[in-house]
Amino acid sequence: MRILVFNAGSSSLKFGVFDTGAETVQVFKGAFERFRDGGCDFRFRRDARDEGGTAPHAGLPEAIAAVPGVLADWGVEGIAAVGHRIAHGGPDFAGPARLDEDSLPRIEALTPLAPLHNPANLAAVRLAIKTWPDLPQVGVFDTAYHLTNPARATTYAVPEAWREAGLRRFGFHGTSHKYVAVRAAEELGQKVTDLRIISVHLGNGASVCAVNLGRSMDSSMGLTPLEGLVMGTRSGDVDPGAFGYLARQLGLTIEAIETALYNDSGLKGLTGSSDMRDVEDRAAAGDAKAQLAINLYAYRARKYVGAYAAAMGGVDAVVFTGGIGENSASMRRRICDGLDFMGLRLDHDHNAAVRLADRAAPQIQALESRVAVIVTETAEQLQIAREVAAHLARPEPQRRPIPVAVSGRHVHLSAEAVEALFGPGYALTPGKPLRQPGNWAAEERVTLEGPKGRLERVAILGPLRKRTQIEISRTDSFALGIDAPVRDSGALDGTPKVRIIGPAGHLDTDGLIVAARHIHTNPEDAAAMGLADGQLVDVRIGDGPRALTFTHTLVRVQPDAFTEMHIDTDEANAAGLGGEGEGALVKERATVASGA
Ligand code: ADP
Repeated sequence: MRILVFNAGSSSLKFGVFDTGAETVQVFKGAFERFRDGGCDFRFRRDARDEGGTAPHAGLPEAIAAVPGVLADWGVEGIAAVGHRIAHGGPDFAGPARLDEDSLPRIEALTPLAPLHNPANLAAVRLAIKTWPDLPQVGVFDTAYHLTNPARATTYAVPEAWREAGLRRFGFHGTSHKYVAVRAAEELGQKVTDLRIISVHLGNGASVCAVNLGRSMDSSMGLTPLEGLVMGTRSGDVDPGAFGYLARQLGLTIEAIETALYNDSGLKGLTGSSDMRDVEDRAAAGDAKAQLAINLYAYRARKYVGAYAAAMGGVDAVVFTGGIGENSASMRRRICDGLDFMGLRLDHDHNAAVRLADRAAPQIQALESRVAVIVTETAEQLQIAREVAAHLARPEPQRRPIPVAVSGRHVHLSAEAVEALFGPGYALTPGKPLRQPGNWAAEERVTLEGPKGRLERVAILGPLRKRTQIEISRTDSFALGIDAPVRDSGALDGTPKVRIIGPAGHLDTDGLIVAARHIHTNPEDAAAMGLADGQLVDVRIGDGPRALTFTHTLVRVQPDAFTEMHIDTDEANAAGLGGEGEGALVKERATVASGA
């Protein structure tokens, strides 16, 4: 499928045409840049033909209007869909979305969250709809990838009323982080879902992302693209107390402070130039301001890399991308030089010799380094093309009801745990069969004990597992006095310990979780509903006054599974659901853990 992708900013329009398939390849690359009175610069490339110069288009509308003519001149035909990069998708857009009269107002309402970026993105969408009224237009959001971040990463510790008004961390550059994480895993010959990767995107905007087992777990940008690293013109992290101080000392308004933090800070604020090449040249010539800027830039990035290694409990690979990450060997070296303590050591010759043609992703760590270090060009437009094609290929989901079952607290035991609790050689007695084939509730029960209290007669579900897992509700976690994280089944690393008591002994084991809600389904039902393994969907339960839509419900496709949604007792109570019930798929949240 041939897809035209737009990345529209306030001063530029970059676009590309891609053929998607087993491999996605770029067939045309174009840019109109530095819009100004009377014109702009342009650059077009197809195969070996490469042209640049000035064009008369002074703004986005003229530039977009010129695109059909450019494509015709360069012989690029057969566009089947248009993809758009959209900076902010807020909490709702967790995957690509058709841009139409339903979604556009919802995206427009997010403008206050990205006042510099969303208006240009949306202007391009409106103009593209006018120019290509018959083609599907699909938006891909910079924030979407990060909607899998846990609450502890997305919550600001501020008054409840502010949080209710929407103040939370989102994160950006998601398309880039997702692309480079998958590319790095490819280079390492491993699945992205088996790796802990720190993606360091250093362009004019810059952010670091912790990609834990294929999913974004945290990233350095927040509510807006202002938080985090030092950037070209943006400050990154500053003490929020600065607002009051500057208002009182300099009489500055909130608007003036915000504008300066976006446009006159970062490298520009420190040195007068927002361009790292300038700053590096000046530093080399002895300019003290430029030297401080470089030190500060690297120091901040290194702190985030260290922080995310701690957040993930380790790191397998660090990936550098973006104009600075791809091109500045000295900046990569400065960032990595302090990271020996966590087993990351650069090979300085490999670092200096990086060449990035043809999607290369060279490894530049030293032989003895425990952490891989990879450099690769980001390819946001290519990733957008892939996601648009995948979105359009997915059949419209059938709105058929999904049976809902309520899971009470229970444990899955390992063979060692059974011996510790019931005695050597003991075999559990399978009792009631469960609806998932081969699963049963045992006749035996156990007790859970925490610092605050006990939960008695807790069910044991069979068959035995490799690792013991204890699933409780949030309410139960307070009864025990142990905070349990919301986790997918099996994702037990770093989970808290709890004491399990059986008739023959007790066992202190990790594996205590609040199970993330999920839908079990089989390949046939999944195909009929348009669902994919790893996808997150929204499901509405009930239609009375307590009806609730459960967001972020993980789809798990397994051969022979009985199609059924599992929620816990807290969730069932909140939705006014007594025993079993039915849910309806509301809309897609097409965040998939791996691939595309
Ligand atoms: P954007 O975020 O706008 O896409 P880029 O990813 O193109 O920006 O990154 C632009 C930054 O990359 C600029 O600061 C530029 O100076 C820097 N850069 C490009 N080439 C080099 C280089 N060879 N050495 C150092 N910095 C470079």
